[in-house]
Amino acid sequence: MVETATFGMGDQPHHETAQWTCPHGRHVGQGCVTCYRAAAKPDPGLPLWAAVAWFTSPRPIPIKVLHDVHRHDRNFALDQPSTPLVFLLTGQARAAQGVEAVACLVGFLLQSRGTVEDFTVTEVRATRF
Ligand SMILES: [Zn+2]
Repeated sequence: MVETATFGMGDQPHHETAQWTCPHGRHVGQGCVTCYRAAAKPDPGLPLWAAVAWFTSPRPIPIKVLHDVHRHDRNFALDQPSTPLVFLLTGQARAAQGVEAVACLVGFLLQSRGTVEDFTVTEVRATRF
């Protein structure tokens, strides 16, 4: 099962916007710190998701930061595939819905303010294991 959403590519139907809002009313592109914290101690009965978020940053992210994310204990990884200032954040999270897994993933960026100063999420994807 794969759920995808693309942002910044024109107007989206309203129902898609609603689908990509987490239970706390945060759009996944904004990220949700509550979802991020909830996933720290997940219910083991919840499904496991592979979440992906592409985002742009107005400034380069130091390579050290990219490496530090790899050491994060939740299998999060931050990569710069090819295009300057375009980044790929991937991670696994247990959550009831894919939207929560992605909101958790992007919430990690919110928690990383200071290293990732600003970001604009352009596309997200959640895949259930
Ligand atoms: Zn949330």
